[in-house]
Amino acid sequence: MTDFARLERELHDQQRPAILAQHARLSKNGRPEVCTPSRAELSGEQRRREGKGSDGKVIYDTVADARAAARKLEAIGARPMIAYPCRRSRHGHYHLKTDKHRAEGSDR
Ligand SMILES: [Zn+2]
Repeated sequence: MTDFARLERELHDQQRPAILAQHARLSKNGRPEVCTPSRAELSGEQRRREGKGSDGKVIYDTVADARAAARKLEAIGARPMIAYPCRRSRHGHYHLKTDKHRAEGSDR
């Protein structure tokens, strides 16, 4: 890893929590909430509503929040991301996933 890449990485790691704190849904201890399968889903009583890919992902209450976070994360070096609605929550929440289309196009 070059020095520049390491600096970029550090910048990203330092700034990411602040961006998440601003846009993600926060729990009582102030940390971003993440998506987890319900007990019924884990035990197999209920069919999984969302693929394993969503487990542990940060939750955004609105698509606008998710998009705003994506743009800021991209600005500090994250891969291009798009917001998508999660099928797990009753009231609806959003996650970010890598935008494969843009990620490939911007590679070089
Ligand atoms: Zn979710």
